[in-house]
Amino acid sequence: MSGEFMARESFDVCVVGGGPAGTLTALKVARFGHRVCLVERCPFPRPHVGESLTSGIWPILDVLGLRQNILQQGFLDPGETLLRWAAVRTERVPASNRGNGLLVERGKFDLVLLQAARDSGVRIFQPGEIRSTNGKGFKWELGVIARGEPRAIDAAFLVDASGRGGFLPGKQTRVSPPTVALCGYLRGAACPQETLVEALPDGWCWGAPIPGGLFSAMVFSDPAALRPFRGAGLEAIWRSQLAKAELFATIAQVPHVGCVVARNATAYCSIDAIGPSFVRVGEASFSLDPLSSTGVEKAMRSGLTAAIALHTMMVRPERRELSVRFYRDRIAEAVAAHARWSVGFYQDVGRYADFPFWEARSEGVEQPRSEVSRANVSAPDGIGLTTHVRISQRAQWIEEACIVGDEICAHPALVHPNLERPVAFLEGVALRSMLEAVATMPDLGRLVTFWSRRVSLPQAKRIAAWLMKHEILEAVP
Ligand SMILES: Cc1cc2nc3c(=O)[nH]c(=O)nc-3n(C[C@H](O)[C@H](O)[C@H](O)COP(=O)(O)OP(=O)(O)OC[C@H]3O[C@@H](n4cnc5c(N)ncnc54)[C@H](O)[C@@H]3O)c2cc1C
Repeated sequence: MSGEFMARESFDVCVVGGGPAGTLTALKVARFGHRVCLVERCPFPRPHVGESLTSGIWPILDVLGLRQNILQQGFLDPGETLLRWAAVRTERVPASNRGNGLLVERGKFDLVLLQAARDSGVRIFQPGEIRSTNGKGFKWELGVIARGEPRAIDAAFLVDASGRGGFLPGKQTRVSPPTVALCGYLRGAACPQETLVEALPDGWCWGAPIPGGLFSAMVFSDPAALRPFRGAGLEAIWRSQLAKAELFATIAQVPHVGCVVARNATAYCSIDAIGPSFVRVGEASFSLDPLSSTGVEKAMRSGLTAAIALHTMMVRPERRELSVRFYRDRIAEAVAAHARWSVGFYQDVGRYADFPFWEARSEGVEQPRSEVSRANVSAPDGIGLTTHVRISQRAQWIEEACIVGDEICAHPALVHPNLERPVAFLEGVALRSMLEAVATMPDLGRLVTFWSRRVSLPQAKRIAAWLMKHEILEAVP
């Protein structure tokens, strides 16, 4: 195909892949007023793993005004979880302990988001595929086949949202031991209504009811451990693993629907998540251990962060480098924080600590240091309000990339040996302006009262407690 004789359509951003990450990037960039197209290979709805969504999706959907669109689909509220993990006995964990997540049919969930992107002005080529790319400076010339028709497209930015396979070439680094998931669906009255999670000596099992009367059951293992059973076929291995699990044994022989498939579930991150004219979002950028069921939420979040970085690069070209640094740092922090969480969760299964599967995952992979929370700092405990305070001499200010409004800009951020990373905002309030008041307020009580004119009193107290705890504010002897 040659684009020479075709009229070229020009876009600011071309997104490759219409999963949650690509769709939210496209939608948000379009809402910023830029011209966006999205190329999705498959007709929707298409089946996809990632059916158990965490409660963190709701604030994202709220920001975009999409809560109702999802609620109307009749997806399932997760019930109790039956858990055999740290303890040998089965624990019943109420749904409320994990926040109100959702059990969805991913084909439908992704379709709703894609429709919202279309309604926001995103031009969608589906089924479509990019057959040729030519990156010239800050311009991509793309040859696309959409519904069988060749098209020529120009875009200033390319967003790789194509999921695990990745559309753009680039190096990845593994952040978990190699893991394979055998995934299948069961149907039948014997299938439980609860979510099931169980540790096995050589892996773990997850299962949950999903819309359509199906029960999704997955077995996670080290691929090397499955090699001796290769001749047995995936279904036989999947069933034999389920049969070993106390919670799954009764459903191990229930008839299944469709094929049992093997999926790579190894966590990784790409070395270059962003460059001056491209961004990788969602699983094209990094993949998390499915243990947390946060893949979709994190993919959506990365899409929104990427959209802000792209918008900033377009309206403030002088902040291109700052935006690149901001996005790269946020992705690195998300990967590191999740890897540490996973290690802790695997370590909880002490009874299998000496088994190779658990030993490898309890050690983890070397990770960079993580972000200090910018929100919801801990509650105040035992602060004497008459205490005279001053700012530690070890505290310093630097310029750090932050989101302010809809853009990334350089903002004063505090660095201190007790902070893992620079902090610009606490509970959404610029720290610099809060700390400027310390010079004129002699004690903590007056400082908190002064701050409470700008934030609520409990917030002002929490901020004071956090600053004392990290020794950024210190008592004057
Ligand atoms: C076994 C397993 C279980 C999981 N369970 C959960 C879970 O319970 N909860 C959870 O939140 N997450 C889970 N995840 C993770 C979750 O599936 C992903 O995090 C999520 O789907 C990532 O979204 P995405 O938009 O980045 O990519 P995807 O959802 O994979 O979307 C990528 C899209 O790009 C399209 N595409 C690919 N290549 C091209 C191309 N060249 N041109 C055009 N289009 C293309 C694909 O058709 C697809 O629609 C699980 C993952 C695995 C492996």
